Amino acid sequence: MSPLDEHCVFCKILSGQIPAAKVYEDEETLAFLDIAPFNFGHTLIIPKRHCHGLSDMPQESRDALFRAASLLAPVVLRVTGAAGFNLLMNNGQAAGQEVPHAHLHIIPRFMDDPVLLHAPQKQYSGEEMAQLQEKIRCRLAARQESQEQK
Ligand code: 5GP
Ligand code: ZN
Repeated sequence: MSPLDEHCVFCKILSGQIPAAKVYEDEETLAFLDIAPFNFGHTLIIPKRHCHGLSDMPQESRDALFRAASLLAPVVLRVTGAAGFNLLMNNGQAAGQEVPHAHLHIIPRFMDDPVLLHAPQKQYSGEEMAQLQEKIRCRLAARQESQEQK
């Protein structure tokens, strides 16, 4: 069975059906320039098999994606003259994911550029923070335990 999805735009880039400005490739990943960059040099890194996001990505793709990001980010910075970069991964429509094939964004950033407006940050009240902390820790422990039993 092909690891690609015939309806997915990034799979079409992988299969060569549509072109892309490729900058890097290894066994597990492909990187190319975003067609509508927040800043010039905005790069996307994708796994070479179709998956939606971090949760359903095989471990080797996950490792390879972050390895490729570590390799590419300093080069993109150097070439664009950027002062910093955002490493971004939108997971799910609610988080702004438009292409349902997992990808990391490397977005070059310049001092005071207007990219990625900052939303106001919230404040916990009362016990909210401690309750969430406890829920996350419990759920994580249960998950780890069930994985150990498999
Ligand atoms: P998302 O919002 O899903 O995290 O980001 C998807 C990104 O893919 C967007 O920044 C968008 O500009 C880029 N993109 C969508 N279609 C194409 C395409 O056909 N070619 C390239 N190079 N980038 C694309
Ligand atoms: Zn795909």
